[in-house]
Amino acid sequence: MRKPLIAGNWKLQKTIPEATALAGELKNELADFTGADLLVCPPFIDLGVVGREILGSPIELGAQDIFWEDTGAFTGEVSGPMLKSAGCSYVIVGHSERRGFFGDTDEVVNKKLKAAVRSVLIPILCVGESLEKREQKVTKEFLRKQIGASIQGIGIEWIARIVVAYEPIWAIGTGLSASPRMANKTHRFIRELFAEHYDESIAKNLRILYGGSVKPDNARALIAEEDIDGFLIGGASLKADSFATIARYSVL
Ligand code: PEP
Repeated sequence: MRKPLIAGNWKLQKTIPEATALAGELKNELADFTGADLLVCPPFIDLGVVGREILGSPIELGAQDIFWEDTGAFTGEVSGPMLKSAGCSYVIVGHSERRGFFGDTDEVVNKKLKAAVRSVLIPILCVGESLEKREQKVTKEFLRKQIGASIQGIGIEWIARIVVAYEPIWAIGTGLSASPRMANKTHRFIRELFAEHYDESIAKNLRILYGGSVKPDNARALIAEEDIDGFLIGGASLKADSFATIARYSVL
């Protein structure tokens, strides 16, 4: 039985006072929540205050990115041991905005994934096709290549710790969501890929989140699908009530 994970990606939003306020509201809304894992991923600068604010609540802390080295002369970067010391238990790796705006190739994503597991952080590996690939009907081929390259060299003992987020790029921040059926079909395909690369048990236990314009309106139908194990949420994670509503729908 896979426990759902409901994760919020705050992206480049929330100053320190704003992040403190949102974290406090989330803690109030979700103080007694059980049945799914809850996660917020604020910007690096907010990790300290958000971590302190959610202490004693069921909400865990994650980062939006990680550098592949643990220490050294890499101005501006943040490493796994640093994230761990800030109280993070998860880190997002390979978000399409990192891939698109900051040049994170599959090779970079692979190095970041290895850095995350080395620091005993749970990586949320983001994958997903562009609208162009979807229209060309090459989504499966694209995902096969993207996932294969991202997990290369990651042994079975480590892979059991990772979470995958399927986020079709055309659905992120656009208001367009994949239909539950379409998303579930792709999740099933991703699970099959993990069975090919590792084994049936890894595939069966792998948590695959859906991301792309998830809102209270569509969350219920999406989570009802067999292979959708939770969400990575952007816009709707910025309001405590919508994030909490989605979390509650995920355990109905
Ligand atoms: C995301 O940030 O990963 C995301 C899915 O954003 P949104 O929910 O706003 O589409």
